[in-house]
Amino acid sequence: MNDNCIFCKIVNKDIETEFVYEDDDIVVFKDINSQAPIHLLFIPKKHIETLNDISDEDSVLLSKMLMKIRDVAKSRGIAEDGYRVVVNCNRNAGQEVFHLHAHLLGGRGFSWPPG
Ligand code: AMP
Ligand code: ZN
Repeated sequence: MNDNCIFCKIVNKDIETEFVYEDDDIVVFKDINSQAPIHLLFIPKKHIETLNDISDEDSVLLSKMLMKIRDVAKSRGIAEDGYRVVVNCNRNAGQEVFHLHAHLLGGRGFSWPPG
């Protein structure tokens, strides 16, 4: 828990947010500024600032996040058409919230390369 972190406040329920999914390790909720018909954020409950800060001890946690993305994509009906998973890291990627999170975007086509 980091007192200045908005996602820690969401995890801690200090900021009221409807969870799409929650277990002991991860939380899933809608992005407040949706960029696609489906735009969900998958976050570890543990405060990890960026992808640069993951360690070997987080490997099970990170694998759980990816498996949950797979499950939610399937249950939301976007698995077959496809979807995009984004983890922004630091300035060049435009990371705004420094608590590790993966965006799941689906329900429309996405261009490549990204902007
Ligand atoms: P990033 O640029 O990868 O750090 O993205 C942070 C994302 O968090 C943005 O897409 C924001 O719209 C989203 N966000 C920020 N605050 C909230 C919040 N209180 N609830 C839901 N999503 C949020
Ligand atoms: Zn945090």
